[in-house]
Amino acid sequence: MPTKSARPSKTRAASGAVGGGSVFDRLDALARNLWWTWNPPARMLFESLDPALWRATNQNPLLTMAHLGETRRRVVESDPGLLARLAAVEKDLSAYLNAKTWYAREAQGPEKKMQVAYFCMEYAVHECLPLYAGGLGVLAGDHVKSASDLGLPFACVGVLWKYGYYRQEIQPEGSVRVLYPESPFDRLPVRDTGKRIVIPIGKSKVKARIWSLTVGRVNVYLLDTDIEGNTPADRRLSHFLYAGGDPEYRVRQEILLGIGGLIALEAVGVEPTVFHLNEGHAAFSPLERVRRLVKEGHGLDEAISLVRSQSVFTTHTPVPEGNDRFEPSLVMKYFPDLPKELGVSKEEFLGMGREDEHDKKEPFCMTVLALKLADHCNGVAALHGDTSRKMWMKTYGAKSAVEVPISHVTNGIHPETWLADEARPFYDKHLKPKWVGAGPTDDWWAKAGKIPAKDLWDLRCMLRRAFVAELRRRLREQAVYHGASTADLIPLYDALDENALTIGFARRFALYKRAPLIFKDAKRLAKIMNDAERPVQLVFSGKAHPMDEAGHAYVRTVTEFCRHPDFKGRVFILQNYDTAIGKLLTQGCDVWLNNPIRPMEASGTSGMKPCLVGGLNCSILDGWWPEAYDTTNGWALGDGTVFKDRAKQDRVDAEAIYSTLEKSVVPMFYDRDKNGIPQEWVKMMKRSMETVGCRFSTHRMVAEYTEHFYWPAHS
Ligand SMILES: *Cc1c(COP(=O)(O)O)cnc(C)c1O
Repeated sequence: MPTKSARPSKTRAASGAVGGGSVFDRLDALARNLWWTWNPPARMLFESLDPALWRATNQNPLLTMAHLGETRRRVVESDPGLLARLAAVEKDLSAYLNAKTWYAREAQGPEKKMQVAYFCMEYAVHECLPLYAGGLGVLAGDHVKSASDLGLPFACVGVLWKYGYYRQEIQPEGSVRVLYPESPFDRLPVRDTGKRIVIPIGKSKVKARIWSLTVGRVNVYLLDTDIEGNTPADRRLSHFLYAGGDPEYRVRQEILLGIGGLIALEAVGVEPTVFHLNEGHAAFSPLERVRRLVKEGHGLDEAISLVRSQSVFTTHTPVPEGNDRFEPSLVMKYFPDLPKELGVSKEEFLGMGREDEHDKKEPFCMTVLALKLADHCNGVAALHGDTSRKMWMKTYGAKSAVEVPISHVTNGIHPETWLADEARPFYDKHLKPKWVGAGPTDDWWAKAGKIPAKDLWDLRCMLRRAFVAELRRRLREQAVYHGASTADLIPLYDALDENALTIGFARRFALYKRAPLIFKDAKRLAKIMNDAERPVQLVFSGKAHPMDEAGHAYVRTVTEFCRHPDFKGRVFILQNYDTAIGKLLTQGCDVWLNNPIRPMEASGTSGMKPCLVGGLNCSILDGWWPEAYDTTNGWALGDGTVFKDRAKQDRVDAEAIYSTLEKSVVPMFYDRDKNGIPQEWVKMMKRSMETVGCRFSTHRMVAEYTEHFYWPAHS
C-alpha cells in the first residue's frame, strides 16, 4: 500500500470533517483539498462568503477569505445557514474519501500494491492555480481527478510556477500585452510539506521546497526552487513555464522535473512501482533510474530493461516545438560524467536521444529518450497513434509503421469539472448519475435519448442565456479596462443576442489551429452571420505562446474582425483564455468550431466539453473527432484529405466551413416546430451526449491506462 505520507489527504480531510475548530479553520481545511473544484455546493459555499471577491480572485477561496472585511467575517462565523452548508459539504467530502472505489473493487492480488508516479510540467486543476499553459495541463489535471475518483494509488510531481505561463491582455486594436503576475503561494490552496531537497543540476546543487496540492485522494507534489540559499539563476528555475529563457534554462527545468521529481517522491515517502511520463519533458527521470541501477551493480542492458518495463510514456504532439531537441554540447554540459558512469562512450550516450544513434550531428531529443526508456508508449488518439508510429520509425529502426510499438489511449475530460453547475439539477432529474464511486463504464449519458426534447432544448437555451449574460459582463469589463467609451459598449447590448446561434472557438492560438480561418472569405461569412432571420454570433478566446509573433498576429486579425463594421456585435474575443473561460464557452455555445491542419491536433479535448450539455462539434477530422464522429452527433468539416499545398488546404477547409454552416448548421438550428423546438437539432444534441459523455471521459481513459499500461508495468 502507499505509505502514509503518500496520501495524507485522507487523514487531513477526515479531521476537517469532525467539525472541530473555528469556521474559518474549517473553511481553510476544506479549501486545501481541491475536491471542491468539481463539487458545486462546496464551490458555492466559498462563493457565498463574498461573491465579488470570489470573482475578483478567479475563485480562490483562500484569497477570498484573506480579503474578507471584519464585519463580514463576524457575520459568517455566526450564520447558522452557512454553518449548516459547511457541515453538509464536509460530510460530502468525507463520504467521497471513504467511498468504495472502482480500483478497490477491481484490483486483484499484487495489483493492490501498485503505486503510480506521474510526471508532468503543468497541471490545470482550477483557474485559481495558474500552473498550466494549455491542453497538456488540462489533461493532466483531469487525469489526476479521475485517478482520485477511481481510487488509483497515484502520486504526481510537477513545479509550483511562480509566474506560470502568462496573463494575456488584448488591447483594443488587437496587440497583445504579456504580463507575469506573481503567484501568492501563501494564498494558494497548496500546503508546504516541510520537506526540502537538493537536486544536482550540472555543477549546482539546487535546493527545492516541496509543496503539496491535494486533489481528492491524490497528491501532486510541486517543486519550488525560489528559496533562500539558491543562486538567482537557480531560484529562477521555477519561475516561467515554457518561456523565460534559452534552451539551457529549459534543460535545467527538465532536470528539475525529471530528477528532482524522483528525489521529491523519495523525500515524501512515495515508492512508485510504475512511472508515467506525461510528455517527454521528464525523460531525464528514467535516465537517472538507469544510472542508479548501474551504480548498484546492474549491467547497463539489464538496468535499461528494468527501467523500461516500469515506464509509461505518453507523447502529446507531432508539432516540432512540442518535442524538445537540445544541442549535444548542452546535454554534455549537464551530464559530463554520465557516459563513464554508464560504461559507454559519449556518442553512445548521446545516441539514447537520437533517432539515428550513429548520427553525431543529430540533436538530443527528449521524446526519443523517453521512447527508448519506456516499454509502454502511446499517442493520445487513434489517429495520433498512427501519426506517431510513422513519425518515430527511425528511432526503432523500423521498416514500416506497424512495427513501431506505440499504441494509443484516447484523451478524455473529467465530466464533473466541465459540466455546467446549472445543468446538475437537470442531470439529477433525467439521467440520475451516481458520481461517487462510479467506474469507467457507468454510462448514464446513454439515457440521453429518452430526455423530452423540450426539456433539453430549454436547458440549452438557459445555458446560452447565462453565457450571454456573463459574456456581456466580461466583455464590458475588458473594454472598460482598456479605456472604452460608452459607444463601444452598445454592441454588447444591441447586437449580442441570447437567441442567436452561438459558435465558440477557444484554444491556444498555435499556427496549426488556424484561429482566423473562418474569415478567409469575410464577405461570405458576413452574409451567413448577418441574416436578420437567422443570426449567428461567434466568440473567440486564445493565447499564443508568449514568443510566437505569428500567433499574436492571429489574435490581432481576429480582433480586427471584431471591430469591422460587417462583424461588429457579432464577433467577440475574450482576453486571457483560461479554464474559467474554457468552462464558460464550452457550456454556453451551441456549436464548437475546430479547424486545425490535420493531423497536427494530436487529440484536442475542448470539443468533448460542450457535448456534456448537448453542444455540437463542427470540426476537421483530426485528433479525437474521427473516433467520435458518426454523422449523427455533429459535423465533420471535409473528409480528412490532406494537401501538401498549405494555401490549398486553407481554401478547401474554409469552403467546408461555409458550406457546412450554410447548408446544415444554420438551417437546422432555425428549423423550429410549432412549439419553437428545433427537433433535428435536439436529436443531434442527444446523440452528442450519448456518444461522447462516457467514452471520452478521463474515467475511461485512466481505466485504460491502468489495464493496458499500469498493471503490466507494475507486474
Ligand atoms: C480544454 C482546454 C484546453 C484543451 O483543449 P484543446 O482542444 O486542446 O484546445 C486548453 N485550454 C483550456 C483553458 C481548456 O479549458
